Amino acid sequence: MYDDGPPIEFFAAGETPEEQEANLKTVEPSPGFEPASELCAESILKDADVTVLDFSAQQVTLRFQIDGLWHSGAPMDRETGDYMLATLKQLAGLDYRERRARQTGNFGTMYLKKKQKFKLVSQGIKTGERVALYLDYKRPPLDKCEELGMRASMINQLHGIVNDSEMGIVVTSAVPGEGYTKCWRGALDTCDRLTRDYFVMEHVGRNEPEVINVYPVEYDTAKGEDPMTPIPQLMLKEPDVLGFPDVETGNLLDRIVDHSVQHKLPTFTRVPGKHCIDALLRLLVLKPDVKKLADRLTAVLTMRLIRLLCDDCKIGFPPHPKMLQQLGLPPGRVAELFRPMVYQPGMVDEDEVEIEPCATCSGIGYRGRTGLFELLTINDELKQALVSDPKMGNLAGIAKRHGHVSMQMEGIVMIAAGRTSIEELQRVLKS
Ligand SMILES: [Zn+2]
Repeated sequence: MYDDGPPIEFFAAGETPEEQEANLKTVEPSPGFEPASELCAESILKDADVTVLDFSAQQVTLRFQIDGLWHSGAPMDRETGDYMLATLKQLAGLDYRERRARQTGNFGTMYLKKKQKFKLVSQGIKTGERVALYLDYKRPPLDKCEELGMRASMINQLHGIVNDSEMGIVVTSAVPGEGYTKCWRGALDTCDRLTRDYFVMEHVGRNEPEVINVYPVEYDTAKGEDPMTPIPQLMLKEPDVLGFPDVETGNLLDRIVDHSVQHKLPTFTRVPGKHCIDALLRLLVLKPDVKKLADRLTAVLTMRLIRLLCDDCKIGFPPHPKMLQQLGLPPGRVAELFRPMVYQPGMVDEDEVEIEPCATCSGIGYRGRTGLFELLTINDELKQALVSDPKMGNLAGIAKRHGHVSMQMEGIVMIAAGRTSIEELQRVLKS
């Protein structure tokens, strides 16, 4: 790949600057230094959140998690892999001879004028040893709906909903691990927190990063408390809005609804879900008093994460009229759609010259992710249907009749804008 390894600078672990320097000096001449440099540089170039190495008797397999999906790397022979791992462990201040017990350490890098931190976790497993290298970019947390990818008109609509003092209960939803916290934070961030006091109930020790001007209030289930325990005390502070991110039983949900009704308090809560109707059905699974809940519901906001096409290699094509029809796009509206350029080794261009993978996306065809949002306001017909016939098809049909833009339609808007592909939307909606 490179003659003398990529120009990456390492900052080894150590108690003192002298120890750090000594650790670095130990590994620099080692035969593992170059493959370790290449691996770290590749992880950074690919923007891999995690790089996993599996050591078996013969070889070392490599995979990268990029934008939420796994991609295989070229396997490595065991000897090179062993030297490389010894170097990485020494950089992280770990014992390189230990190959069974779990070890965790950190080291830093400077590459392409950017500083990064790697966390290394190694653990012996049945077939050998598994090593995970986590890349910590210190990315600024994305709090704002526009940063998360919400359309301007939806931001306006959400702003109107959450800043109305008549607001009842607003539910945020996502798949846990895929924007579950981001969607919650995004919704709270849209609120005008300077003029009203926001309080969010959080389990002790499970605190999520704070949203500015939203005050966390702790409870502890180990002491027999639940999210409603701090409420009587908190009411003395005259809160304007309450948030309950973790609601695990119907009974708790009922008490939250009752409190929200009694005190006319705008209230946020959260539930896992793939789209808005799914989120509503998951609330019903908790077996709350559905009538009371439905009466108090104002809106549901759901976010999914979708990969963005790499702008440097995406391939435009004129869509077939039938395809446009299937997507529900009027003929003539979109002249060009895009698909990813997915690199395969040995690919050639029209002159039979071998193609190099795109440097921006490493040949994956996608680079980065954005939020795909759906916002559903709960009208009277939906409230009734939640009580009388809460089935997916029925609820979705009612929403559609009232002009609701579904998650799928939101995705098609993104496809028409050339930001993502049809395949990627299908993958997200199916998963
Ligand atoms: Zn590309």
